[in-house]
Amino acid sequence: MKLQRIQRLSQIISTVLYNGYFPGLWMGVIYQGVLKYIPCPGLNCYSCPAALLSCPIGALQLTIAYGKFHIPLYIAGFVSFIGAIVGRMVCGWACPFGLLQDIAYKIRSPKISVPHRIQQMRYIILIFGVILFALIKQEPWFCKMLCPAGTLEAGFPIIALNAYLHEQIGVLFIIKVGFLVLFCIWMVVSKRPFCRVFCPLGTLYSFFNRISLITLTFDASKCSRCGLCFKTCPMELSVQNGGTLSTQCIRCLRCMRCPEGAVRIVWRSTVPCTTQRRLHSPSGEAIQRCVTVKN
Ligand code: SF4
Ligand code: SF4
Repeated sequence: MKLQRIQRLSQIISTVLYNGYFPGLWMGVIYQGVLKYIPCPGLNCYSCPAALLSCPIGALQLTIAYGKFHIPLYIAGFVSFIGAIVGRMVCGWACPFGLLQDIAYKIRSPKISVPHRIQQMRYIILIFGVILFALIKQEPWFCKMLCPAGTLEAGFPIIALNAYLHEQIGVLFIIKVGFLVLFCIWMVVSKRPFCRVFCPLGTLYSFFNRISLITLTFDASKCSRCGLCFKTCPMELSVQNGGTLSTQCIRCLRCMRCPEGAVRIVWRSTVPCTTQRRLHSPSGEAIQRCVTVKN
């Protein structure tokens, strides 16, 4: 089976696994059993009637907001453990919102790039929207005010399945729907805008991309500069400029379709590094890149 098909299958299976509480879909109630104590690796709203597991970002905010200033060690440990092994791979292989964006981009339309400068906004969303506002407001502020995944997976089905809630639809919900529509249009014309500009969970995982056990190497001596890897990359990264080590690489492995075999997935400890160079990615971030040079 082609790697891209395996990736798609993994995205679908993880979406179904995270949302396996099917009775919730016709009863309109949220599952509150013991599995809700376990976070899922991807961004998946825990208030979705079908959600079996909790969302790491929702759980992180709840701990910050209601945990009397406890450090959210459980969630931090969970995200760090996954990140230390695979970096940001969850975004490419096991995130329902990532799947939605990949499918939406297949719709025929004019396509535009996501400007590099606005991609830094994800740090602001993480620091202010998720951490500081949860601390100050004592509520999961990001989920309540911003998260388009929550509006799609929880807001719509809960309202559709509970008629008595229709009267309570207010300005906040309408603004959140507008925000979701905006992202839905954007994901048709641009590759993964939510992951690149907004997602706080992807941003947390991204810190591990340069130290994770599983990593990607690029052999510059093999590259014929055909451009296939850039064309297929869902994050519009250039492997020649250190894209595979960038914080934006979601380890989807599509660049491994390189006809010259210049991109490989390896355990970090086995990287035969002969030169180290300081490079800059297109977004301007410094990248310590390992380049394999043939003698
Ligand atoms: S697909 Fe391979 S050969 Fe083509 S530009 Fe990318 S790394 Fe180089
Ligand atoms: S650089 Fe390769 S692995 Fe990373 S996001 Fe782009 S195609 Fe996927």
